[in-house]
Amino acid sequence: MEVNQLTAHELLDKLKNKQVVFKDIMEALYVRIQAVEPKVKAYARFKSENKLSLNPQTNGLLGGLPITIKDNICTEGLNTECCSKILGNFRPPYDATVINKLKTAGSSIFPLKANMDEFAFGSSTENSYFGSTHNPWNLECVPGGSSGGSAAAVASDEAIWALGSDTGGSIRQPASFCGVVGLKPTYGRVSRFGLIAFASSLDQIGPITKDVEDAAILTRIISGYDPNDSTSVNQDVPDYTNNLGKDIKGLKIGIPKEYFIDGMDVEVKRVIEEAINKLESLGVISSKVTLPHTQYAVPVYYIIATAEASSNLARFDGVQYGYRAKSDNLIEMYKKTRAEGFGEEAKRRIILGTFVLSHGYYDAYYLRALKVRTLIKNDFDTVFKDFDCMVTPTSPTPAFKIGERAADPLKMYLSDIYTISVNLAGIPAISIPCGFTKKGLPVGLQIMAKPFNEEMLFRLAYAFEQNTQWHKIKPRL
Ligand code: GLN
Repeated sequence: MEVNQLTAHELLDKLKNKQVVFKDIMEALYVRIQAVEPKVKAYARFKSENKLSLNPQTNGLLGGLPITIKDNICTEGLNTECCSKILGNFRPPYDATVINKLKTAGSSIFPLKANMDEFAFGSSTENSYFGSTHNPWNLECVPGGSSGGSAAAVASDEAIWALGSDTGGSIRQPASFCGVVGLKPTYGRVSRFGLIAFASSLDQIGPITKDVEDAAILTRIISGYDPNDSTSVNQDVPDYTNNLGKDIKGLKIGIPKEYFIDGMDVEVKRVIEEAINKLESLGVISSKVTLPHTQYAVPVYYIIATAEASSNLARFDGVQYGYRAKSDNLIEMYKKTRAEGFGEEAKRRIILGTFVLSHGYYDAYYLRALKVRTLIKNDFDTVFKDFDCMVTPTSPTPAFKIGERAADPLKMYLSDIYTISVNLAGIPAISIPCGFTKKGLPVGLQIMAKPFNEEMLFRLAYAFEQNTQWHKIKPRL
């Protein structure tokens, strides 16, 4: 196996035993990126003629191990453009808190940032200003989104591990499409200071990795209270690797009946049912449960998320950051900058969000959506009184073809049907590889737990992973 194919924890062992050095990892990544990046396009702004250079982080436990970062997380002096024209050439003057934490732990920030849907608006990475990323398992398919670049880079061994962000599924759905592990932590677990905001009541940063142990290690590093993010919660961060390997016998798992509906791909259904059987053979006790307000999750999400996005995006006006259209009239300059700088989907969301917040419609849409959000959250609270976890598919279909849904926003929005309730309720959830369709596309299993019970997710996910080995199968590129 090449060095770049190893997991982070395998590499950490090898670094410790001096079986590899930082330079070996960077060289292996460089060779791999040169070979497959022209096909996969996982990185924004990649140019094959540019030599990658990176000074390793020398102190800390991680021994310099490089990590790939999504293009919406601020990295000091390194372009952070949210894959939008409007942030063209923006170089943040500071690091996001997660980047500071990674550096302190001894991680080197990889000099290329991962491709994504512009401002994290999307489920396919087709909305990037830099063009689509391709799924390493089938280059004609999307990698999912919006963290499609991070997931594709990890799946194709162009990265050891990566960070993404998840507002409505943007870590878990691409992880599922690319056959890797992705976790959305509890709202408040990880600081968003330095994450360019999409929808502030939903956004979380989280890991995308080759296996569950790596996700546990990375989650621990990035978690914790941060006075710079008033929504971060001051609660101890456990060592998430402690529970790996702990027995899962007797755990009570809920299977929400609303998640097994018509329209779900038959192959996904088969793979998920097999995964649930596997968990049962390992001793979990599963029963059907109900989340009765599930049908409202998509409309509620697309009201709240667009409302918050329209407000967060107001700051991009050509004055402080990135792109500025030429004009000698200030108002014209604002208008032209925003007209030229934002892509189609960003404009759609700004218009939708402004509409639902506007006088006369606020009560009918935004306020009502907030109320239904509470009902959705209550559904979860009720089930978690009696159950340790819930298990569902991560997405109703495997990766779809590039272009297939691009012209139909509603169809695209429906691909988030299984992931967005988790963000609305603020709970943690993980997606892990659990099998393949007949055509060889990966399928992801989503596990959900109570707020701040990431340990339960890692415990169950690890038991499944160690007894199945799906995560070891690599795409042929
Ligand atoms: N696909 C969802 C959207 O387009 C979620 C995106 C995300 O989590 N950033 O809003």
